[in-house]
Amino acid sequence: MGDTGAWRIRGRALPGGEPCDWFVRDGLLTAEPVAGAVDLLPVDSPAGDSWILPGLVDAHCHVGVGRGSVGTDINTATAQAVAERDAGVLLLRDAGVPVDTRALDQVPGLPRIIRAGQHLALPKRYMPALGLHLNDESELPDAVAAQARAGDGWVKLVGDWIDRGVGDLAPLWSPKVLKEAIGRAHDEGARVTAHVFGFDALPGLLDAGIDCIEHGAGLDAELIAQMRSQGTALVPTIINIASFPGIADGAGRYPVYAAHMRALHARNPEMLAMAIDAGLDLYAGTDAGGFIDHGRVVDEIEALSAAGLGNERALAAGSWAARRWLTGQDGLVEGARADLVAYASDPRVDLNVLRSPSHILLGGSLVGR
Ligand SMILES: [Zn+2]
Repeated sequence: MGDTGAWRIRGRALPGGEPCDWFVRDGLLTAEPVAGAVDLLPVDSPAGDSWILPGLVDAHCHVGVGRGSVGTDINTATAQAVAERDAGVLLLRDAGVPVDTRALDQVPGLPRIIRAGQHLALPKRYMPALGLHLNDESELPDAVAAQARAGDGWVKLVGDWIDRGVGDLAPLWSPKVLKEAIGRAHDEGARVTAHVFGFDALPGLLDAGIDCIEHGAGLDAELIAQMRSQGTALVPTIINIASFPGIADGAGRYPVYAAHMRALHARNPEMLAMAIDAGLDLYAGTDAGGFIDHGRVVDEIEALSAAGLGNERALAAGSWAARRWLTGQDGLVEGARADLVAYASDPRVDLNVLRSPSHILLGGSLVGR
């Protein structure tokens, strides 16, 4: 896959923007000069220095979920991972898939995947082909422990979904079972996140010590303050919330649900402004798979910036800060795997630059378009 080389990498590294001078040896970064290393990036170019990121991060996508929200075969999953990579994504958190994608870990040139196992839901309370649908909530703690052991440090709950008996969004789990279940995940060393569109499921999840909320359109100021004080992150999937009016249009016999989805969509900019004001940890996630295409993380980073985060913090939310949150590690440091993406100019000035990476390096190999 691509050229492996003894590269020399000179440019400006983000965050910070300071000049950097790295060498690649055996697929790892080192400051120690490597004999015969070839410059990967243009140097002394009239256009100026290249700008280097430790890769973008899609913190919520589904490599292994295809059109119609069903599991894919491994070839389709591979193509989805390639689409993410070609967009500059070198690390992604799979937020629940129904198929085993571990084979991708052996394919050179694909992004690193941090898996959350299978969605945990109840019968008729999530998309039928996705996730494990438990018989009743008493099975949740054991199921969470099993998914914690099967994944890469995350477990994914469906926090709310339409309850057709009620005709509206409603929580799936009681606060008591959530406390026990999330405690079991933490005992296994895993973090827990939940799909939550509305408000009602949030207090139980947050009181139980959940680590992250996905979507979160129903958050209010008080819950945002609770998240801030507990260190709970939010992955708002703004480009997915844009689909809420369409979901409402298709809600047929459930007018209360339809109105609820429209209201959540309408107030989402206000929710994001509150979250940003409060200094909540936000990360970029596209929710690709099902009905959003893979490879759209730059759209989400731009949406985060436009929501009030600004270019630099939105970029952090979709790269270095997200990497640190998911792996506990910084990207461009001595001895790190040589994973990086280079751009011809500073993406903090114009996020659109992120759409045209000049070079993508994974494990020291040049990959991509
Ligand atoms: Zn999702």
